[in-house]
Parts: sequence; structure tokens; C-alpha cells
Amino acid sequence: MEKRRDSKKITKHTKEVTSLEDTTLELRKKFTLKYAELVKYFPKIPEIASREFAFLFWDRNYMIRHRGFTNPQHLLSELKNINPKHVYHSAALYKDPANKIMSEKGWMGCDFVVDIDADHMELSCQENHDYYICMKCDYVHREKVTKCQKCEGPIRKQIWLCDKCLEASKYEVIKLVDDFLPDFGFTKNDIDLNFSGHRGYHVHLRDKFIRTLSSEERRQMVDYITGTNFDPTDYLIYKSSNGYFIGTTIDDAGWKGRIARNFLKILTTHDSIDSFNKEYSKYNLDTKIKQILLNPDNRNQLIHQLTIKNQYWTIKELAKGSWKKIKEFLIQVSMCDIDVPVSIDTHRLIRVQGSIHGKTGFLVKPLNYYDMVNFEPFSDPIIFSTEKEACMKLEINTPICPEIRIKDIIYGPYKKHEQIEVPEAVAIFLTCKGVADLLSRGN
Ligand SMILES: [Zn+2]
Ligand SMILES: [Zn+2]
Repeated sequence: MEKRRDSKKITKHTKEVTSLEDTTLELRKKFTLKYAELVKYFPKIPEIASREFAFLFWDRNYMIRHRGFTNPQHLLSELKNINPKHVYHSAALYKDPANKIMSEKGWMGCDFVVDIDADHMELSCQENHDYYICMKCDYVHREKVTKCQKCEGPIRKQIWLCDKCLEASKYEVIKLVDDFLPDFGFTKNDIDLNFSGHRGYHVHLRDKFIRTLSSEERRQMVDYITGTNFDPTDYLIYKSSNGYFIGTTIDDAGWKGRIARNFLKILTTHDSIDSFNKEYSKYNLDTKIKQILLNPDNRNQLIHQLTIKNQYWTIKELAKGSWKKIKEFLIQVSMCDIDVPVSIDTHRLIRVQGSIHGKTGFLVKPLNYYDMVNFEPFSDPIIFSTEKEACMKLEINTPICPEIRIKDIIYGPYKKHEQIEVPEAVAIFLTCKGVADLLSRGN
């Protein structure tokens, strides 16, 4: 895709809107008008009458929850009336969802929800775009800090999103759906999926049986998906007496096959340490081990053993300690990186599909599996205008504002006090992110 860089800056302007309250009020109006348009396309919320709804607002720092809606029209007219910034509903179903006392709601079951989000992943791009900024002296910290290293002032975490974060999230969703859910008997057609509106995706399983699972039972599923405590004693072990590693074969079920298939894929894809490091440097596998594995003779031998489904993996130079590290590496590479607390909580609130994310202005877009594979997170969920005619004027209020791609144009990076004129969708993104104040209302 060809990306253009937008460098339009304002030299003169009339300050029509100045304070933070005004920016917030404008965003609220924009969201309300957009909800009026979205009514026609609002996706169906399964069992809407049995779900608790909750809202966060532009001008209040507390959540309103324990709301119930008997039908979609009721919810949509409420969205237009109360102008929320964020909209959530319970993953659980209740007899009396609006009851304020949790124990009296009458829990009837809970969807199994998987939240896959770059927030919970360690990605190299985050060093380039996530910051801890002092609210007193503007000092920018790249490392996580709880107070300013310079003046001890309070810290504001500024997290961003880029193609790499969203690609990493999508990769994990594909892994979950293609590789893990079949182990539980679910296919692509059994899932409900949506873009989160920010840095990831939500996968919902609404199967009758899965809804009855307790939190502990859900934890067992999550441990399986994340490879937690996975430490087999009869395979993936080194036999010192014979000098071979008891591996697994690509046709094995579950984790056994997963490990062998991933090992084969890694070895066939990478024939040099440079190439290997491009994908796997974060796993810190010893250089010595990489040299041995990727030495052409060893690599070919292992590829051969894996291809002919030989359970015994033999490389002379690799002893017990090295095989243990390879095993740990293969488990790390094969696990699925999900936000664990979301999946085990049977009373969790989750963002409503079809709503607008208050930190980006992006649509929380429902997708089927195939839509998701081709989904363009910086184009497809953009619901505000990207036309030049709908430009708005802003002033950047943060010491460091990274670049952002909206559709095929890159905006920024910007400096503090820089005044810019950008399309509505970009203006809403930057103001929702809290890094800019509006100077004009746009059209
Ligand atoms: Zn400071
Ligand atoms: Zn990123």
C-alpha cells in the first residue's frame, strides 16, 4: 500500500474552542451524531435482555452499571440520550441484569471471552510509541515509571497503536482460532469475533455448555491455551543414556503436534541466525544453540526427522541443558498470548460490538473469521470523515505525539503546541487519545 505523509500545518488560526471541556463537549456531540447514523447498522446483541450494560462518560470518572435493556431499540435510544464515551455489556447472562446486588442478579451462565490485545504483549514497536509522560514537567520516560525521575511528578501513560501491534494481535487470533479452539471442539463458524476498537480483538464463544463453566474450569482452558504449567514427563525429555531427545510428531494431537509442527516451520523458514532473530529475538535463545540448530547439516537432519515423523530428535552437539532450552522456546513460540483475567472472570464487562471506542473514535466492528484475516484496522473501522472538506484544527498538548496512519495517509509525528489541520477522523483520534485540543469544530 502506498502511504502518503500529511504535513499540513497551520500558521494562522482563530481560537474558537479553547478549553478541555470544550474539546470533550465537541467529541460528545460527534459521537452522538454518529450513533444516530449507526442505529441502522447496529449489530444484534445475543440475549440482550439478559445482559447487564455499563457506561463510561466524557465528563465523569465513574462507571454507570447495572442497566438492563429489553430490546435493541431501547439501548440505541439510550445511547443517543446519554452520550457515553465507552459502552460495555456483561459476558454473563442474568435473570435480573439490572439488579444492583450481584448475588441477586441470578447468574445463568457466561460467554467464554478471549481478549487478544497488544497491551498484554511485549512488542518491539512499543518502545517507539508508548511513553510515560510527567504531567508536571513533561519529561518523557521510555521505561515504565510510577513517578517522574526528574521531578517526582505524577505520570500519564500514553499508549499508541501501529501496524505492528495490530498485526501481532491478529496473528494471535488466527493462532487461537486455527490452532487451539479445534482442540476444544470449536471451529471458525462457532465463534463471534470483533475488532476491539483499539489494539486488538475479542473472540466470544457462546456455546450452551461452555457458558456453564466455572471460573476454575475456565482457568484450565486458559492454562492450556497459554501453555501454563505444561511440563510433560514422558516426552520432550532428553535420554542421556541414548543421547536423543524424545520429541513429538507433526501428526500428534494437541500440544504434541503443535510443538513438532512449529519446530518444523521454524527450521524450514529460517536458514540463518539473522533471519531467525528477525522473528524470534525476544525469546533470548542462546546464540550457541541457534548456531547448532541452524548449521546446515543439523538443520537438514532435524527437518528430515520431523518430516518423516520420527519421534526421536538427535543432534550430537545438543545435550540435556540445550534441549531443555529448546523445549521452553518451542512452548513459548507455540502458546497463544491472551489476556488471562478476561477469560476466567464469569462477571466480566466487555465492550459492545457496534459501539464507538472512546479512546480512538474507531468502530468496535463485528467480523467473521475471514473478514478478520483481511481486516485493515486503520481503514475498515474508521467511521468519521477522512475527507479534506471535513478538516478540523487542533493544537497538540503532549510533548511527544507519534505518527498515526489513517487509511493510506500518515499523520505526524507532532510536537507540543504544534497547530495542525487534519480530517475529522484524525482529529477525533488525536483528541480521544488526549494528545490534542480542538481549535475549531470542523464541518
Ligand atoms: Zn517531571
Ligand atoms: Zn506498535
